[in-house]
Amino acid sequence: MDDIKTRFAPSPTGYLHIGGARTALFSYVYAKHSGGKFVLRIEDTDFERSERVFEEDIIDSLKWLSIISDEDIAYQSKRLDIYKTYAEKLLREGRAYYCFCSKELLEEDRNSLIAENKKPMYTGRCRELKPDEILLKKPYVIRFRVKRGPAETTGFKDLIRNQFISVNNDEIDDFVLVREDGIPTYNFAVTIDDALTGITHIIRGDDHLSNTPKQIMLYNALGFNVPAFAHVSMILGPDGKRLSKRHGATSVNQYKQEGFLPEALVNYLIRLGWSHGNDEIFSMDEIIKYFDLKNISKSAAIFNTEKLLWLNSHYIKSKDPFELIGLINGIGGDSQKPLAAALDTAALVDSLKTRAKTLVELRQKLGFFTNESIEYKGEIINGLNFDESDLGFLKSFKEFINGLDPKIFNYNADLENKEKTAEELKKSIDAIKTGFNDFLSKNGQTMKEKAMLIRLALTGEKISPPIFEIIFSLGKERCAERIDKFYDFINI
Ligand code: GLU
Repeated sequence: MDDIKTRFAPSPTGYLHIGGARTALFSYVYAKHSGGKFVLRIEDTDFERSERVFEEDIIDSLKWLSIISDEDIAYQSKRLDIYKTYAEKLLREGRAYYCFCSKELLEEDRNSLIAENKKPMYTGRCRELKPDEILLKKPYVIRFRVKRGPAETTGFKDLIRNQFISVNNDEIDDFVLVREDGIPTYNFAVTIDDALTGITHIIRGDDHLSNTPKQIMLYNALGFNVPAFAHVSMILGPDGKRLSKRHGATSVNQYKQEGFLPEALVNYLIRLGWSHGNDEIFSMDEIIKYFDLKNISKSAAIFNTEKLLWLNSHYIKSKDPFELIGLINGIGGDSQKPLAAALDTAALVDSLKTRAKTLVELRQKLGFFTNESIEYKGEIINGLNFDESDLGFLKSFKEFINGLDPKIFNYNADLENKEKTAEELKKSIDAIKTGFNDFLSKNGQTMKEKAMLIRLALTGEKISPPIFEIIFSLGKERCAERIDKFYDFINI
Protein backbone atom coordinates (compact mmCIF):
# COMPACT_ATOMS: atom_id res chain seq x y z
CA MET A 1 0.00 0.00 0.00
CA ASP A 2 1.08 3.60 -0.61
CA ASP A 3 2.37 5.55 2.31
CA ILE A 4 -0.44 6.49 4.62
CA LYS A 5 -1.66 10.06 4.40
CA THR A 6 -4.44 11.46 6.55
CA ARG A 7 -5.98 14.86 6.96
CA PHE A 8 -8.08 17.00 9.22
CA ALA A 9 -10.45 19.26 7.34
CA PRO A 10 -12.24 21.66 9.67
CA SER A 11 -14.62 24.38 8.60
CA PRO A 12 -13.68 27.61 10.38
CA THR A 13 -17.22 28.27 11.57
CA GLY A 14 -16.47 27.84 15.27
CA TYR A 15 -13.62 27.37 17.73
CA LEU A 16 -11.83 24.02 17.66
CA HIS A 17 -14.24 21.72 19.48
CA ILE A 18 -12.99 18.96 21.71
CA GLY A 19 -14.56 16.41 19.33
CA GLY A 20 -12.77 17.92 16.35
CA ALA A 21 -9.51 17.88 18.28
CA ARG A 22 -9.95 14.18 18.98
CA THR A 23 -10.65 13.46 15.31
CA ALA A 24 -7.55 15.45 14.36
CA LEU A 25 -5.52 13.55 16.94
CA PHE A 26 -6.74 10.16 15.67
CA SER A 27 -5.84 11.18 12.11
CA TYR A 28 -2.47 12.54 13.14
CA VAL A 29 -1.33 9.58 15.20
CA TYR A 30 -2.67 7.08 12.68
CA ALA A 31 -0.45 8.58 9.98
CA LYS A 32 2.55 8.93 12.29
CA HIS A 33 2.24 5.36 13.52
CA SER A 34 3.19 4.14 10.06
CA GLY A 35 5.61 6.94 9.24
CA GLY A 36 3.01 8.59 7.00
CA LYS A 37 1.89 12.17 6.60
CA PHE A 38 -0.85 14.25 8.14
CA VAL A 39 -2.16 17.44 6.55
CA LEU A 40 -4.51 20.21 7.55
CA ARG A 41 -7.02 21.74 5.19
CA ILE A 42 -9.29 24.64 6.05
CA GLU A 43 -12.68 24.16 4.43
CA ASP A 44 -13.67 27.77 4.17
CA THR A 45 -16.08 27.89 1.27
CA ASP A 46 -19.03 28.84 3.45
CA PHE A 47 -18.14 32.49 3.23
CA GLU A 48 -20.95 33.63 5.46
CA ARG A 49 -20.15 31.44 8.41
CA SER A 50 -16.36 31.18 8.10
CA GLU A 51 -14.39 33.59 10.24
CA ARG A 52 -10.73 34.39 10.49
CA VAL A 53 -10.76 34.17 14.30
CA PHE A 54 -12.02 30.62 14.11
CA GLU A 55 -9.41 29.70 11.53
CA GLU A 56 -6.65 31.10 13.74
CA ASP A 57 -8.09 29.40 16.79
CA ILE A 58 -8.16 26.02 15.03
CA ILE A 59 -4.57 26.34 13.80
CA ASP A 60 -3.26 27.60 17.16
CA SER A 61 -5.13 25.00 19.17
CA LEU A 62 -3.84 22.16 17.01
CA LYS A 63 -0.32 23.50 17.32
CA TRP A 64 -0.76 23.72 21.09
CA LEU A 65 -1.72 20.03 21.07
CA SER A 66 1.36 19.26 18.90
CA ILE A 67 -0.80 18.21 15.97
CA ILE A 68 1.19 19.70 13.14
CA SER A 69 0.54 19.56 9.42
CA ASP A 70 3.31 18.04 7.33
CA GLU A 71 2.50 20.30 4.40
CA ASP A 72 1.43 23.91 3.99
CA ILE A 73 -2.11 24.37 5.20
CA ALA A 74 -4.52 24.23 2.26
CA TYR A 75 -7.48 26.61 1.94
CA GLN A 76 -10.46 25.63 -0.16
CA SER A 77 -11.28 29.27 -0.83
CA LYS A 78 -8.08 29.47 -2.87
CA ARG A 79 -8.90 26.44 -4.95
CA LEU A 80 -12.18 27.47 -6.57
CA ASP A 81 -10.74 27.24 -10.10
CA ILE A 82 -9.78 23.62 -9.51
CA TYR A 83 -13.31 22.66 -8.50
CA LYS A 84 -14.64 24.47 -11.57
CA THR A 85 -12.45 22.41 -13.87
CA TYR A 86 -13.73 19.20 -12.38
CA ALA A 87 -17.35 20.35 -12.55
CA GLU A 88 -16.86 21.06 -16.25
CA LYS A 89 -15.31 17.64 -16.75
CA LEU A 90 -18.31 15.94 -15.13
CA LEU A 91 -20.71 18.04 -17.23
CA ARG A 92 -18.84 17.14 -20.40
CA GLU A 93 -18.92 13.48 -19.56
CA GLY A 94 -22.59 13.51 -18.73
CA ARG A 95 -21.98 12.72 -15.04
CA ALA A 96 -23.37 16.07 -13.97
CA TYR A 97 -26.09 18.34 -15.31
CA TYR A 98 -27.38 21.86 -15.02
CA CYS A 99 -30.48 22.31 -12.90
CA PHE A 100 -32.63 25.41 -13.25
CA CYS A 101 -35.31 24.55 -10.71
CA SER A 102 -36.21 27.50 -8.54
CA LYS A 103 -36.36 27.24 -4.77
CA GLU A 104 -40.15 27.57 -4.94
CA LEU A 105 -40.45 24.73 -7.40
CA LEU A 106 -38.20 22.50 -5.32
CA GLU A 107 -40.28 23.30 -2.27
CA GLU A 108 -43.50 22.45 -4.10
CA ASP A 109 -42.08 19.12 -5.28
CA ARG A 110 -40.92 18.38 -1.82
CA ASN A 111 -44.30 19.06 -0.27
CA SER A 112 -46.09 16.90 -2.84
CA LEU A 113 -43.75 13.99 -2.14
CA ILE A 114 -44.29 14.36 1.59
CA ALA A 115 -48.06 14.46 1.01
CA GLU A 116 -47.74 11.19 -0.93
CA ASN A 117 -45.76 9.68 1.95
CA LYS A 118 -42.65 9.49 -0.20
CA LYS A 119 -39.10 10.40 0.67
CA PRO A 120 -38.59 14.07 -0.25
CA MET A 121 -35.86 13.89 -2.89
CA TYR A 122 -35.03 15.86 -5.99
CA THR A 123 -37.45 14.67 -8.70
CA GLY A 124 -34.91 14.82 -11.48
CA ARG A 125 -36.80 17.48 -13.45
CA CYS A 126 -33.63 18.79 -15.10
CA ARG A 127 -31.85 15.44 -15.40
CA GLU A 128 -32.78 14.90 -19.01
CA LEU A 129 -32.97 18.44 -20.38
CA LYS A 130 -32.33 18.82 -24.12
CA PRO A 131 -29.41 21.06 -25.14
CA ASP A 132 -31.82 23.78 -26.35
CA GLU A 133 -33.44 23.82 -22.91
CA ILE A 134 -30.17 24.66 -21.23
CA LEU A 135 -30.23 28.43 -21.01
CA LEU A 136 -27.32 29.43 -18.86
CA LYS A 137 -28.60 32.97 -18.52
CA LYS A 138 -31.00 31.68 -15.88
CA PRO A 139 -29.65 30.90 -12.40
CA TYR A 140 -28.60 27.28 -12.13
CA VAL A 141 -26.88 24.76 -9.92
CA ILE A 142 -24.86 21.76 -11.10
CA ARG A 143 -26.12 18.39 -9.91
CA PHE A 144 -24.45 15.02 -9.90
CA ARG A 145 -26.13 12.40 -12.06
CA VAL A 146 -26.38 9.47 -9.65
CA LYS A 147 -26.38 6.10 -11.44
CA ARG A 148 -29.92 4.76 -11.17
CA GLY A 149 -31.24 1.24 -11.34
CA PRO A 150 -32.36 -1.40 -8.86
CA ALA A 151 -28.93 -3.02 -8.77
CA GLU A 152 -26.95 0.19 -8.35
CA THR A 153 -25.49 0.35 -4.88
CA THR A 154 -22.56 2.19 -3.33
CA GLY A 155 -20.66 0.93 -0.32
CA PHE A 156 -17.47 0.95 1.66
CA LYS A 157 -15.88 -0.83 4.55
CA ASP A 158 -15.72 1.27 7.67
CA LEU A 159 -12.46 0.62 9.47
CA ILE A 160 -13.80 1.39 12.94
CA ARG A 161 -17.08 -0.46 12.72
CA ASN A 162 -15.26 -3.18 10.80
CA GLN A 163 -18.36 -3.46 8.70
CA PHE A 164 -19.37 -3.01 5.09
CA ILE A 165 -21.87 -0.19 4.77
CA SER A 166 -23.83 -0.06 1.57
CA VAL A 167 -26.70 2.05 0.25
CA ASN A 168 -28.96 1.66 -2.70
CA ASN A 169 -28.28 4.54 -5.09
CA ASP A 170 -31.97 5.30 -5.23
CA GLU A 171 -31.73 6.44 -1.63
CA ILE A 172 -29.44 9.22 -2.78
CA ASP A 173 -30.52 12.45 -4.42
CA ASP A 174 -28.93 13.88 -7.52
CA PHE A 175 -27.02 16.07 -5.10
CA VAL A 176 -25.76 19.55 -5.84
CA LEU A 177 -22.06 19.90 -6.71
CA VAL A 178 -21.93 23.61 -7.45
CA ARG A 179 -24.31 26.16 -5.98
CA GLU A 180 -26.02 29.01 -7.76
CA ASP A 181 -23.20 31.37 -6.74
CA GLY A 182 -20.58 29.09 -8.29
CA ILE A 183 -19.29 27.82 -4.95
CA PRO A 184 -18.77 24.05 -4.69
CA THR A 185 -20.65 22.10 -2.04
CA TYR A 186 -18.84 20.29 0.77
CA ASN A 187 -19.16 16.84 -0.85
CA PHE A 188 -17.73 18.02 -4.14
CA ALA A 189 -14.80 20.08 -2.81
CA VAL A 190 -13.83 17.54 -0.15
CA THR A 191 -13.64 14.70 -2.68
CA ILE A 192 -11.49 16.63 -5.13
CA ASP A 193 -9.18 17.84 -2.38
CA ASP A 194 -8.80 14.48 -0.69
CA ALA A 195 -8.12 12.84 -4.03
CA LEU A 196 -5.65 15.43 -5.30
CA THR A 197 -3.82 15.52 -1.96
CA GLY A 198 -3.43 11.74 -2.07
CA ILE A 199 -5.28 11.08 1.16
CA THR A 200 -5.32 7.33 1.80
CA HIS A 201 -7.39 7.24 4.99
CA ILE A 202 -10.24 9.55 5.90
CA ILE A 203 -10.93 9.55 9.62
CA ARG A 204 -13.83 11.77 10.65
CA GLY A 205 -16.92 12.01 12.79
CA ASP A 206 -19.79 9.62 12.14
CA ASP A 207 -22.03 12.61 11.45
CA HIS A 208 -20.51 12.32 7.97
CA LEU A 209 -21.55 8.70 7.42
CA SER A 210 -24.32 9.68 5.03
CA ASN A 211 -21.91 11.79 2.96
CA THR A 212 -19.45 9.00 2.33
CA PRO A 213 -21.44 7.14 -0.39
CA LYS A 214 -21.90 10.42 -2.26
CA GLN A 215 -18.18 11.05 -2.13
CA ILE A 216 -17.43 7.51 -3.29
CA MET A 217 -19.70 8.05 -6.30
CA LEU A 218 -17.70 11.16 -7.08
CA TYR A 219 -14.35 9.37 -6.73
CA ASN A 220 -15.56 6.79 -9.21
CA ALA A 221 -17.02 9.32 -11.62
CA LEU A 222 -13.79 11.34 -11.60
CA GLY A 223 -11.58 8.27 -11.93
CA PHE A 224 -9.86 8.78 -8.58
CA ASN A 225 -8.72 6.02 -6.21
CA VAL A 226 -11.20 5.59 -3.37
CA PRO A 227 -9.53 6.03 0.05
CA ALA A 228 -10.31 4.03 3.18
CA PHE A 229 -12.87 5.46 5.59
CA ALA A 230 -13.13 5.38 9.38
CA HIS A 231 -16.02 7.08 11.14
CA VAL A 232 -15.50 7.99 14.76
CA SER A 233 -18.43 7.96 17.18
CA MET A 234 -19.59 11.08 18.90
CA ILE A 235 -18.56 12.39 22.30
CA LEU A 236 -21.47 12.64 24.70
CA GLY A 237 -21.93 14.58 27.90
CA PRO A 238 -22.53 12.69 31.18
CA ASP A 239 -26.29 12.94 30.51
CA GLY A 240 -25.90 10.94 27.31
CA LYS A 241 -26.62 13.93 25.07
CA ARG A 242 -24.18 15.17 22.46
CA LEU A 243 -21.39 17.15 24.14
CA SER A 244 -22.27 20.81 24.03
CA LYS A 245 -21.72 24.07 25.87
CA ARG A 246 -24.33 22.99 28.41
CA HIS A 247 -21.79 20.49 29.70
CA GLY A 248 -19.07 23.10 30.27
CA ALA A 249 -16.03 23.95 28.20
CA THR A 250 -16.13 22.47 24.72
CA SER A 251 -13.39 24.32 22.90
CA VAL A 252 -9.72 23.42 23.20
CA ASN A 253 -8.90 27.04 23.82
CA GLN A 254 -11.21 27.16 26.83
CA TYR A 255 -9.34 24.25 28.36
CA LYS A 256 -6.09 26.07 27.75
CA GLN A 257 -7.46 29.17 29.48
CA GLU A 258 -8.67 27.07 32.39
CA GLY A 259 -5.15 25.84 32.99
CA PHE A 260 -5.06 22.43 31.35
CA LEU A 261 -1.80 21.18 29.90
CA PRO A 262 -1.75 20.03 26.29
CA GLU A 263 -0.21 16.70 27.33
CA ALA A 264 -3.18 16.09 29.61
CA LEU A 265 -5.72 16.97 26.96
CA VAL A 266 -4.00 14.80 24.34
CA ASN A 267 -3.80 11.92 26.81
CA TYR A 268 -7.43 12.40 27.78
CA LEU A 269 -8.71 12.68 24.21
CA ILE A 270 -6.87 9.62 22.98
CA ARG A 271 -8.34 7.52 25.76
CA LEU A 272 -11.78 8.83 24.95
CA GLY A 273 -12.71 5.97 22.67
CA TRP A 274 -9.32 4.28 22.22
CA SER A 275 -7.56 1.86 24.51
CA HIS A 276 -4.30 0.01 24.80
CA GLY A 277 -4.66 -2.61 27.50
CA ASN A 278 -5.46 -0.99 30.82
CA ASP A 279 -2.93 1.81 30.45
CA GLU A 280 -4.08 5.32 31.21
CA ILE A 281 -0.98 7.48 30.86
CA PHE A 282 0.34 8.02 27.37
CA SER A 283 2.79 10.52 25.95
CA MET A 284 2.35 11.52 22.32
CA ASP A 285 5.25 9.24 21.38
CA GLU A 286 3.64 6.29 23.12
CA ILE A 287 0.30 7.00 21.48
CA ILE A 288 1.98 7.03 18.09
CA LYS A 289 3.75 3.81 18.90
CA TYR A 290 0.62 1.90 19.96
CA PHE A 291 -2.19 3.53 18.01
CA ASP A 292 -4.40 1.36 15.89
CA LEU A 293 -7.87 2.04 14.47
CA LYS A 294 -8.94 -1.45 15.56
CA ASN A 295 -8.84 -0.38 19.18
CA ILE A 296 -11.19 2.54 18.72
CA SER A 297 -14.51 1.93 20.38
CA LYS A 298 -17.56 1.60 18.14
CA SER A 299 -19.85 3.25 20.66
CA ALA A 300 -20.07 6.87 21.71
CA ALA A 301 -17.67 8.06 24.42
CA ILE A 302 -18.82 9.88 27.54
CA PHE A 303 -16.89 12.96 28.53
CA ASN A 304 -15.63 12.80 32.11
CA THR A 305 -14.20 16.00 33.52
CA GLU A 306 -12.95 14.31 36.70
CA LYS A 307 -10.70 12.06 34.69
CA LEU A 308 -9.35 14.97 32.69
CA LEU A 309 -8.58 16.80 35.96
CA TRP A 310 -6.85 13.70 37.29
CA LEU A 311 -4.64 13.51 34.20
CA ASN A 312 -3.96 17.21 34.36
CA SER A 313 -2.77 17.02 37.94
CA HIS A 314 -0.60 14.06 36.96
CA TYR A 315 1.15 16.16 34.31
CA ILE A 316 1.38 19.24 36.53
CA LYS A 317 3.07 17.16 39.23
CA SER A 318 5.58 15.79 36.78
CA LYS A 319 6.79 19.24 35.74
CA ASP A 320 9.76 21.21 36.87
CA PRO A 321 8.66 24.32 38.88
CA PHE A 322 10.42 26.72 36.51
CA GLU A 323 8.57 25.22 33.59
CA LEU A 324 5.33 25.58 35.52
CA ILE A 325 6.06 29.25 36.16
CA GLY A 326 6.43 29.77 32.41
CA LEU A 327 3.21 27.87 31.77
CA ILE A 328 1.27 29.83 34.38
CA ASN A 329 2.49 33.07 32.83
CA GLY A 330 1.52 31.73 29.42
CA ILE A 331 -2.16 31.41 30.31
CA GLY A 332 -2.45 35.19 30.35
CA GLY A 333 -6.05 36.05 30.99
CA ASP A 334 -6.70 38.34 33.90
CA SER A 335 -4.42 41.22 34.69
CA GLN A 336 -2.12 39.30 37.01
CA LYS A 337 1.53 40.23 36.98
CA PRO A 338 3.70 37.51 35.51
CA LEU A 339 5.46 35.32 38.05
CA ALA A 340 9.21 35.76 38.25
CA ALA A 341 11.29 32.75 37.30
CA ALA A 342 13.05 33.00 40.64
CA LEU A 343 13.93 30.49 43.28
CA ASP A 344 11.43 31.82 45.82
CA THR A 345 8.54 31.41 43.40
CA ALA A 346 9.83 28.05 42.28
CA ALA A 347 10.03 26.83 45.87
CA LEU A 348 6.36 27.56 46.36
CA VAL A 349 5.28 26.25 42.99
CA ASP A 350 7.13 23.03 43.70
CA SER A 351 5.44 22.53 47.02
CA LEU A 352 2.01 23.48 45.67
CA LYS A 353 2.06 21.55 42.42
CA THR A 354 0.85 18.36 44.04
CA ARG A 355 -2.28 20.10 45.25
CA ALA A 356 -3.47 21.87 42.12
CA LYS A 357 -5.49 20.22 39.41
CA THR A 358 -5.06 23.08 36.95
CA LEU A 359 -2.56 25.86 36.33
CA VAL A 360 -5.24 28.39 37.22
CA GLU A 361 -5.74 26.70 40.57
CA LEU A 362 -1.98 26.70 41.10
CA ARG A 363 -1.84 30.41 40.36
CA GLN A 364 -4.69 31.04 42.81
CA LYS A 365 -2.88 29.11 45.50
CA LEU A 366 0.09 31.41 45.00
CA GLY A 367 -2.08 34.46 45.66
CA PHE A 368 -0.75 35.01 49.18
CA PHE A 369 2.70 35.31 47.68
CA THR A 370 2.00 37.25 44.49
CA ASN A 371 -0.31 39.77 46.13
CA GLU A 372 1.77 42.51 47.72
CA SER A 373 -0.21 42.39 50.94
CA ILE A 374 -2.97 40.16 52.22
CA GLU A 375 -6.26 40.99 53.89
CA TYR A 376 -7.32 38.77 56.77
CA LYS A 377 -10.95 37.77 56.52
CA GLY A 378 -12.94 37.70 59.75
CA GLU A 379 -14.57 34.36 58.99
CA ILE A 380 -11.23 32.64 58.67
CA ILE A 381 -10.65 32.86 62.42
CA ASN A 382 -14.22 32.03 63.42
CA GLY A 383 -14.15 29.37 66.08
CA LEU A 384 -10.44 29.75 66.71
CA ASN A 385 -9.82 31.17 70.14
CA PHE A 386 -6.56 33.01 70.21
CA ASP A 387 -5.31 34.18 73.59
CA GLU A 388 -2.39 35.99 75.21
CA SER A 389 -0.09 33.05 74.65
CA ASP A 390 -0.73 33.22 70.90
CA LEU A 391 0.06 36.92 70.88
CA GLY A 392 3.22 36.19 72.80
CA PHE A 393 4.10 33.46 70.33
CA LEU A 394 3.67 35.81 67.38
CA LYS A 395 6.06 38.27 69.00
CA SER A 396 8.74 35.68 69.54
CA PHE A 397 8.12 34.17 66.09
CA LYS A 398 8.80 37.57 64.59
CA GLU A 399 12.04 37.76 66.52
CA PHE A 400 12.98 34.36 65.19
CA ILE A 401 12.31 35.56 61.62
CA ASN A 402 14.32 38.75 62.15
CA GLY A 403 17.15 36.68 63.53
CA LEU A 404 17.42 34.37 60.52
CA ASP A 405 20.73 34.59 58.72
CA PRO A 406 20.24 36.82 55.62
CA LYS A 407 22.50 34.43 53.71
CA ILE A 408 19.65 31.92 53.71
CA PHE A 409 17.74 34.24 51.43
CA ASN A 410 20.69 35.26 49.28
CA TYR A 411 20.51 32.51 46.79
CA ASN A 412 21.54 32.38 43.23
CA ALA A 413 19.03 30.73 40.98
CA ASP A 414 20.87 29.31 38.06
CA LEU A 415 18.14 28.31 35.66
CA GLU A 416 20.58 26.57 33.38
CA ASN A 417 21.63 24.32 36.21
CA LYS A 418 18.51 22.87 37.73
CA GLU A 419 20.32 20.47 40.02
CA LYS A 420 22.42 23.19 41.57
CA THR A 421 19.35 25.36 41.97
CA ALA A 422 17.47 22.55 43.68
CA GLU A 423 20.45 22.00 45.99
CA GLU A 424 20.61 25.71 46.91
CA LEU A 425 16.93 25.68 47.62
CA LYS A 426 17.16 22.61 49.80
CA LYS A 427 20.01 24.11 51.80
CA SER A 428 18.02 27.27 52.50
CA ILE A 429 14.85 25.42 53.41
CA ASP A 430 16.81 23.06 55.68
CA ALA A 431 18.43 26.01 57.43
CA ILE A 432 15.03 27.56 58.13
CA LYS A 433 13.70 24.21 59.30
CA THR A 434 16.58 23.60 61.73
CA GLY A 435 16.34 27.15 63.10
CA PHE A 436 12.59 26.88 63.49
CA ASN A 437 12.74 23.54 65.29
CA ASP A 438 15.33 24.97 67.71
CA PHE A 439 13.13 27.99 68.27
CA LEU A 440 10.09 25.83 69.00
CA SER A 441 11.88 23.55 71.41
CA LYS A 442 13.39 26.51 73.25
CA ASN A 443 9.85 27.79 73.70
CA GLY A 444 8.59 24.37 74.68
CA GLN A 445 6.13 24.29 71.78
CA THR A 446 5.36 21.92 68.97
CA MET A 447 4.73 22.50 65.32
CA LYS A 448 1.33 20.90 65.65
CA GLU A 449 0.21 23.52 68.16
CA LYS A 450 1.44 26.51 66.24
CA ALA A 451 1.21 25.59 62.56
CA MET A 452 -2.28 27.02 62.09
CA LEU A 453 -1.38 30.32 63.68
CA ILE A 454 1.68 30.69 61.43
CA ARG A 455 -0.19 29.70 58.30
CA LEU A 456 -2.93 32.21 59.03
CA ALA A 457 -0.45 34.99 59.80
CA LEU A 458 1.70 34.44 56.73
CA THR A 459 -0.90 33.49 54.12
CA GLY A 460 -4.32 34.48 55.47
CA GLU A 461 -5.42 30.90 54.84
CA LYS A 462 -5.75 27.72 56.84
CA ILE A 463 -4.29 25.54 54.13
CA SER A 464 -1.00 26.54 52.63
CA PRO A 465 2.26 25.13 51.34
CA PRO A 466 4.75 23.94 53.95
CA ILE A 467 5.72 26.70 56.38
CA PHE A 468 9.45 26.67 55.64
CA GLU A 469 8.86 27.24 51.93
CA ILE A 470 6.53 30.11 52.80
CA ILE A 471 9.13 31.76 55.03
CA PHE A 472 11.80 31.29 52.40
CA SER A 473 9.66 32.67 49.59
CA LEU A 474 8.16 35.63 51.39
CA GLY A 475 11.51 36.66 52.83
CA LYS A 476 12.20 38.19 56.22
CA GLU A 477 10.61 41.56 55.67
CA ARG A 478 7.30 40.42 54.29
CA CYS A 479 7.02 37.73 56.97
CA ALA A 480 7.65 40.29 59.72
CA GLU A 481 5.10 42.72 58.25
CA ARG A 482 2.45 40.03 58.08
CA ILE A 483 3.11 38.84 61.61
CA ASP A 484 2.57 42.41 62.85
CA LYS A 485 -0.57 42.79 60.83
CA PHE A 486 -2.02 39.50 62.04
CA TYR A 487 -1.07 40.41 65.60
CA ASP A 488 -3.19 43.55 65.32
CA PHE A 489 -5.96 41.61 63.63
CA ILE A 490 -6.44 39.12 66.46
CA ASN A 491 -5.56 41.50 69.28
CA ILE A 492 -9.02 42.98 69.78
N1 GLU B 1 -15.32 20.48 6.77
C1 GLU B 1 -15.95 19.28 7.21
C2 GLU B 1 -16.36 19.43 8.67
O1 GLU B 1 -15.79 20.26 9.35
C3 GLU B 1 -15.00 18.14 7.02
C4 GLU B 1 -15.56 16.81 7.20
C5 GLU B 1 -14.62 15.74 6.71
O2 GLU B 1 -13.68 15.44 7.46
O3 GLU B 1 -14.79 15.28 5.61
O4 GLU B 1 -17.25 18.76 9.12
